[in-house]
Amino acid sequence: MNHQKMKTAVITGGGSGIGLAIAEKFVKEQIRCILIGRDKDKLQKASDLLGPLAFGVSFDLTGLSGLPGLVSSIEKEYGKIDILVNNAGIHLKKPLMEVSDEEFQKVVMTNQNAVFSMSREVAKVMSTRKSGNIINISSMASQYGLPYVIAYTAAKSAVEGMTRAMAVELSPIGIRVNCVAPGFIQTEMSSGALKNDPERQRKVFSRTPMGRLGTPAEVADAVYFLASESSSFITGVILPVDGGNSIGF
Ligand code: NDP
Repeated sequence: MNHQKMKTAVITGGGSGIGLAIAEKFVKEQIRCILIGRDKDKLQKASDLLGPLAFGVSFDLTGLSGLPGLVSSIEKEYGKIDILVNNAGIHLKKPLMEVSDEEFQKVVMTNQNAVFSMSREVAKVMSTRKSGNIINISSMASQYGLPYVIAYTAAKSAVEGMTRAMAVELSPIGIRVNCVAPGFIQTEMSSGALKNDPERQRKVFSRTPMGRLGTPAEVADAVYFLASESSSFITGVILPVDGGNSIGF
């Protein structure tokens, strides 16, 4: 495909887990993918796996002041950004009374502030072309109360609120903004959170009508749908990809 016509996506945290699955889906659909993460080796392995349409850019998204420069260097190198997937995130599982202000701040900085700042910078360049797609990744932690994930819940709830706030401001100028809320998905992050916690594991399965964990590829399919023309009249939605977990009793 002609590189001028080819879409370019920036996927934060695209080097592993759900982000990597999103990149795999996008590459299969001939979308060029710029993967952002801190770990250069992880990014190298991911781009080797994905092939010539994938490029790793090593950057710590909590360095907010560097984000305008990051976005303009991506624009310069690849011509345009059509899709932004705010997927990077960190988890912290701890009783709330033991969470320090520093720990809380670190989770919020990564999972919330970086989503805002990246979206703002990318929206600026998308607005010049009056087209673009931003997809945020939230979590079941913002659909109902989950114990021991106070900072993560705060940040993911903010991501869902920001999705709606961004959608009303940006959709009139051609930028759709949507959010995917994955349920319990089989990745390193979730097996870390579920491992050694049989009670939590039992709860997860008992309230998931489909009775299993989801796969990163299933999340990626939903993200691709929201990034594609098949969803051209959809903006501001939070789409659970959770086997019914959010409505399960
Ligand atoms: P992973 O830990 O596999 O992926 C997280 C990615 O984020 C990594 O590639 C990591 O790269 C990147 N990242 C983290 N911090 C930074 C940072 N400061 N700067 C740049 N990149 C960063 O987790 P998952 O794939 O499971 O999670 C992906 C998203 O899905 C997250 O937002 C998570 O909250 C969400 N989610 C996951 C669920 C699950 O069950 N797995 C359920 C619900 C939501 P590096 O280490 O190289 O920086």
